[in-house]
Amino acid sequence: MMQEIYGITLEELKAWMQQNGQPQFRAGQIFGWLYGKQALSFDQMTDLGAPLRAKLAESFHFSTLKQVRILRSEDGETEKFLWELQDGKKVETVLIYSADRRTVCVSSQVGCPARCSFCASGKQGLIRNLSSAEIVEQVLQIDRHLKGRGERVCHLVFMGMGEPMENYEAVVKAIRIFCSPDAFHISQRRITVSTVGVVEGILRLAKEELKVNLALSLHASNQNLRKKLIPYARKYSMEEIITAVDAYSHHTKRDITYEYTLLAGINDTIESATELAELLKGKQCTVNLIPYNPVEGIRLDRPEKRDIEQFRETLEERGICTTWRFTKGKDIAAACGQLALQQ
Ligand code: SF4
Repeated sequence: MMQEIYGITLEELKAWMQQNGQPQFRAGQIFGWLYGKQALSFDQMTDLGAPLRAKLAESFHFSTLKQVRILRSEDGETEKFLWELQDGKKVETVLIYSADRRTVCVSSQVGCPARCSFCASGKQGLIRNLSSAEIVEQVLQIDRHLKGRGERVCHLVFMGMGEPMENYEAVVKAIRIFCSPDAFHISQRRITVSTVGVVEGILRLAKEELKVNLALSLHASNQNLRKKLIPYARKYSMEEIITAVDAYSHHTKRDITYEYTLLAGINDTIESATELAELLKGKQCTVNLIPYNPVEGIRLDRPEKRDIEQFRETLEERGICTTWRFTKGKDIAAACGQLALQQ
């Protein structure tokens, strides 16, 4: 069976070379063509002999994503890409421009098993996992899009559609390709994996040599409320999750980011902020506050600005570091899963 070339790590390609009687350095050469020169076929790899190119073409195929459309936000800070996969399913990726930073928000699944009550992707549940090639190609195609103006993707966040820890192997393989000096050469420090708290996945990732950043989508200050907002969260208690996250931080020496979507009248009160500060007391962490971006068909609202400010001040006064992110690209349905659902 033909394999997807973008889902192959350098080590796997070296092994393939060896099995096919070729020197291993050819693997690095091919990675240079794929990710540096962004070749679209083996025929373009002119420094490989014709028999090797033919053998590669028999064994691997290239593209897995077809670009359906790109939407650019009015403020020019966000572009949203909608792709069609080979089986006709849709998935999306967001490119965020901020100063000289180009960040790609990658999807890891079609749909999502977490079913967060405030999320468009959660509405449809899990449809299927993406392959490592489908994950890598989201970034490659955007890198190609940027290359024309002399720019490159430099930061990655696994915060698009899906729960990355539920597609662990494919996500980790894609991260190895993103970090590979022969491919994208993106530093581990510039890659963030976001999870709703899959304990086994967090502990497993802590043991990999990949020291990527971890973000926990917390969204509530206690288990009762969290269970209502994230049905999937019933599987694990908050204590178990936070213990796993602490272990991750300890192993990797990375600070943790806690994502907290602020929902009017639900989790944005001073009591919630006080409870959250108590929960995170003494931890090396940042709470990223995300005022909710309303989704059609979901009856939840964005808090008033003064409530957001009060929430933030309550955390800061108690020694918790915060960042405050207004969801970019509101006019292009930039909350995760919205564009794919509109098709
Ligand atoms: S917010 Fe993230 S984890 Fe929750 S359903 Fe949406 S994609 Fe899944």
